[in-house]
Amino acid sequence: MLTTPFDSALDDLCSALATGAERADQFWPAESLRRCAEQGVLRWFLPEEQGGLGWSEADLLRGYLKLSAACLTTTFILTQATGALKRLASAGNPELCDVWLPLLLTGEKFCTLGISHLTTSRRHLGTPALTARRAEPDDPQSDFVLDGYSAWVTGAPQADLMVIGAQLEDGMQMLLALPTDLPGVTTEPPARLVGLSGSDTGPVRLSGVRVSNAHVLAAPQPNVMQGATGAKTGGLQTSALAIGLSGAAIDLLETEAKRRGELGNAAEGLRGEQQQLVSNLLALAEGLEPCGADELRASANSLALRSTQAALAAAKGAGYAAGHPAGRWCRQALFFLVWSCPAPVMAANLCELAGIGE
Ligand SMILES: Cc1cc2nc3c(=O)[nH]c(=O)nc-3n(C[C@H](O)[C@H](O)[C@H](O)COP(=O)(O)OP(=O)(O)OC[C@H]3O[C@@H](n4cnc5c(N)ncnc54)[C@H](O)[C@@H]3O)c2cc1C
Repeated sequence: MLTTPFDSALDDLCSALATGAERADQFWPAESLRRCAEQGVLRWFLPEEQGGLGWSEADLLRGYLKLSAACLTTTFILTQATGALKRLASAGNPELCDVWLPLLLTGEKFCTLGISHLTTSRRHLGTPALTARRAEPDDPQSDFVLDGYSAWVTGAPQADLMVIGAQLEDGMQMLLALPTDLPGVTTEPPARLVGLSGSDTGPVRLSGVRVSNAHVLAAPQPNVMQGATGAKTGGLQTSALAIGLSGAAIDLLETEAKRRGELGNAAEGLRGEQQQLVSNLLALAEGLEPCGADELRASANSLALRSTQAALAAAKGAGYAAGHPAGRWCRQALFFLVWSCPAPVMAANLCELAGIGE
């Protein structure tokens, strides 16, 4: 069991994940996820009284930096699973926790999130993507009935439980724990993606799904995701994964630079930038403010794109062949342009790509 991010066993775990990373980009990485659960990775995120190890925010990010450098697909899946896990654990519903937490923490069952339709997906449409209503409108304890879809649910076909967001007729939003075997839940085949196809991300449709009042994790309220634990957009973990991926690409550049002096300046410059971002990330996690969280995210996105392309350039034609890690990292870096990207981060990305100041 890994008890700190400085444990050498984490490096062993990461070596195993790196070996499976190419395949994980295409196919669900069951074995890598099993190893992570076995090493107690899921426990990092919960307090001790709930069976977790209660890692600090900074230590969680240290863990994510290492894992994402080894295998972005597995680590990304973990972010969705642990986001759901934290949400479930913090909702203060002992019956749900007693049933689900032991199974989720050991990896026997898998949980995920379907919440982006409340934050960054389908927001321009006039109608909510997923609605909730009371089955008995006059009974405050009655079941909820869910209809609609969540367009992007990572690991949906693998999931036993989803933390799902829904909007009520009056505009209030809520979160529910949704067992995927309830009648009316349909998981569509996962999409083939530019990268991270192995995350088995796809739409989940709900048709008249009755969910017990006991499964409510956050009662109807305005903007339920604002300040939400474990599932907010633009959180530091997203930046950690981008910085971790950059680290892997810069490692390759540095290895090449040992034999090819002309690569030295680029490797040194990118490494310096990555180290600065790691330091800002950890400082933010400790409550300091070296920069804003959105600013860090935009910088991390930029570094992920540039460092992976620098690795590809250094690897030359060999890097462009399918199966070389540099090509995979380039494809995967594009993910950060679309994943959980709040408007200010999106604006900063676009300005950088357009070569204009904000
Ligand atoms: C691989 C992957 C895994 C993900 N996993 C999860 C997950 O596990 N859980 C989760 O909750 N979310 C997940 N997400 C969702 C993610 O966090 C973002 O919410 C999502 O990428 C936003 O993209 P969208 O296409 O849904 O955005 P949308 O805003 O719905 O855009 C879709 C299209 O609508 C049009 N459009 C957009 N804005 C406007 C506008 N203002 N006016 C007119 N037309 C417009 C554009 O043509 C655009 O292409 C995942 C996403 C990806 C790519």
